[in-house]
Amino acid sequence: TREIRLASRPKGWPEPADFDLAETDLPEPAEGQVLVRNLFMSVDPYMRGRMNDVKSYVPPYRLGEPLEGGAVGEVVDSRAPGLAKGDVVLHNHGWREHALLDARAVRKVPDVPGVSPSAYLGVLGMPGLTAYAGLLDVAGFKDGDAVFVSGAAGAVGSLVGQIARLKGASRVIGSAGSAAKVAFLTERLGFDAAFDYRDAPVAEQLAAAAPDGIDVYFDNVGADHLEAAIGALRPHGRVALCGAIAVYNRADPQPGPRNLSLAIGRRLTLRGFIVGDHYSRMPAMVDEVGAWLREGRIVYQETVADGLDNAPAAFIGMLRGENVGKMIVRL
Ligand code: NDP
Repeated sequence: TREIRLASRPKGWPEPADFDLAETDLPEPAEGQVLVRNLFMSVDPYMRGRMNDVKSYVPPYRLGEPLEGGAVGEVVDSRAPGLAKGDVVLHNHGWREHALLDARAVRKVPDVPGVSPSAYLGVLGMPGLTAYAGLLDVAGFKDGDAVFVSGAAGAVGSLVGQIARLKGASRVIGSAGSAAKVAFLTERLGFDAAFDYRDAPVAEQLAAAAPDGIDVYFDNVGADHLEAAIGALRPHGRVALCGAIAVYNRADPQPGPRNLSLAIGRRLTLRGFIVGDHYSRMPAMVDEVGAWLREGRIVYQETVADGLDNAPAAFIGMLRGENVGKMIVRL
């Protein structure tokens, strides 16, 4: 079987040479373990941070060891009570074709007719919960709020905008990195307005898209997007600081928003959060978002790469914006 190992720590943008595709023996489960054949694995922005040797909310990946991350697979051998051959499970040993896991490290996932099990890596999984808890709990979204989300055509952003619309936002605005993504937002996802942040300064485009300002900003990007949003927020506006993908591959520290002092007079709240602290909301998210999915009221889009050998390219491509919706690798 094969796995992808971290060959070197990327400096700035990751490169294919930072990854090693290695052959390894197929392990056998011991008592209490299962062997899983992975069907899908996730590539996520946070993995870029784990490639650096710095202390963070998740420990760094180790050089020469297989990478880790969300994956869905099928049990092919089990010595664990309650888990049988053929069960589909969610776990954190992605980046490999087979995973040997203790029973407590896997979660059996229900089969939803018409929904690919890869949805547990996207809309019904970590990114879905990030969107749901970030918008509703962290930003304190209320009926009638005008919402701006950056990275709006990605896994998290595409759900933030749709949840806001379904929950009664007065206006939903998104930004993304291409004309095709902008069309996807307004034509498929029901955003009221969207713009390509590469076309003109974000502050100008946001002011045009939200002439009356915004109440909530869901930040996936940081940098100029955050500054533009602070400029557009109305009194008592709220920001969920979810990600800052514009700076993840920058080697030097980047300056903060130049207009931060506006937060004082406008009584703004800027709150960072980590989805790992919000797992108690998973059942509510799966109930509510799962129902919208079954009713066809929410669009779940994936970009799928094929084969473990293409996982590094899928990861780098996701950081560069090659995905619409959730980037998934099918193994
Ligand atoms: P996405 O599916 O949104 O993929 C990343 C996207 O980022 C790309 O498609 C690209 O889209 C965009 N992007 C890349 N570089 C830039 C740039 N310089 N400026 C603006 N956009 C850029 O990823 P996710 O939905 O998984 O994650 C979105 C954000 O949420 C990330 O910042 C991530 O770190 C964060 N996150 C935070 C969590 C938390 O617990 N706080 C949990 C999960 C995610 P485009 O073509 O539009 O540029």
